[in-house]
Amino acid sequence: MSLRLLENAPLAGLNTFGVAARARRLVMLEDERDLPQALAALADGPRLVLGAGSNVLFAGDFDGTILLMRTRGRQVLGDGHGAPFNRIAVAAGESWDETVTWTLEEGLAGLENLAMIPGTCGAAAIQNIGAYGVELCDRFDSLRAVDMDSGEAREFGLADCRFDYRDSLFKQAGGRHWLILTLRLRVGAGQRPVLQYGELASALTAEGGPPGEPVAARIAAAVRAIRSRKLPDPTVLGNAGSFFKNPVVSAEAARELRVREPGMPGHPVTAAGEDRVKLSAGWLIERCGWKGFRQGDAGVHQAHALVLVNHGQASGREIAALAERIRQSVHERYGVWLEAEPSIIGGS
Ligand SMILES: Cc1cc2nc3c(=O)[nH]c(=O)nc-3n(C[C@H](O)[C@H](O)[C@H](O)COP(=O)(O)OP(=O)(O)OC[C@H]3O[C@@H](n4cnc5c(N)ncnc54)[C@H](O)[C@@H]3O)c2cc1C
Repeated sequence: MSLRLLENAPLAGLNTFGVAARARRLVMLEDERDLPQALAALADGPRLVLGAGSNVLFAGDFDGTILLMRTRGRQVLGDGHGAPFNRIAVAAGESWDETVTWTLEEGLAGLENLAMIPGTCGAAAIQNIGAYGVELCDRFDSLRAVDMDSGEAREFGLADCRFDYRDSLFKQAGGRHWLILTLRLRVGAGQRPVLQYGELASALTAEGGPPGEPVAARIAAAVRAIRSRKLPDPTVLGNAGSFFKNPVVSAEAARELRVREPGMPGHPVTAAGEDRVKLSAGWLIERCGWKGFRQGDAGVHQAHALVLVNHGQASGREIAALAERIRQSVHERYGVWLEAEPSIIGGS
């Protein structure tokens, strides 16, 4: 039995915003054999699963039990019955970025565009992480989860997960009772390099490492170089990456907005069989004048209007209040409601 339990647990070191908050109780799961005890500890009152805390904002204390996922284990499963890929299985508590590095060391391509995304492998499926033209669902094989209410374990295939842009069944109210335990992915020779992002294609030539290296490793190096240059390091400046999803509007709404804002970026997408347009949340926020804004220690990053930051001692409540002001102002000016990407926990 290695289940660790802490009462009145401090959370500042467990979220990348670095905001101070407390949980009534925290249970750390390192070994899946302790799952029954962990589920029993969660049975009483509000519960929350926490990975690396890079996609949550604690807007207040959490009056319930947090399950901290720290299970470990990675395995190459084989070639998927003659399919042109290998399958890997990773425990939910494994670091996503270390897993990307491990696949590249194993000579298995496919995850390189998703290098350097903070967080755990279990959480990667929650919001279908994506970057530089690849989403988790593009490499997804299956996952194993347990129902935290009944204790029943279940396998999920691609269609079961209802992956969408920064979304999945597990992020929805009706799917939050599933605790993801193991993630299986398809990697290997069958996964072609994805270089549709011009910035990545040109960076590959300029900074993607020695030409002799496999292309996947060079793409990962280029992605890391771009991300290090563009995104604030949460260990230096608290943040959760993009705070808002890019809003998807009807083609007609996008046309009307472009009459007022001819330079507005947006690209066509199909959602639920309809032609729609995905707008840039960062652009809308910047146009509303928020880039570089700071009130106390809560702010908007100097270089990225989409990234809210904690300059030091901001509370989660202050960051959530700033996010709400930004949402209101974008709605007033453009009639578009932005949706937060991180889970906002606690507060009123
Ligand atoms: C600097 C920075 C850059 C980022 N860049 C990107 C990016 O490019 N693309 C992108 O998609 N995201 C990005 N993110 C967001 C974040 O890294 C991802 O969403 C990541 O997958 C979150 O992992 P986590 O372990 O930190 O999850 P947490 O923040 O701990 O949890 C996130 C949510 O998942 C739930 N959860 C966690 N683990 C489990 C589990 N095992 N079972 C069930 N529920 C679970 C939690 O309850 C919570 O609702 C970025 C964040 C930062 C700080």
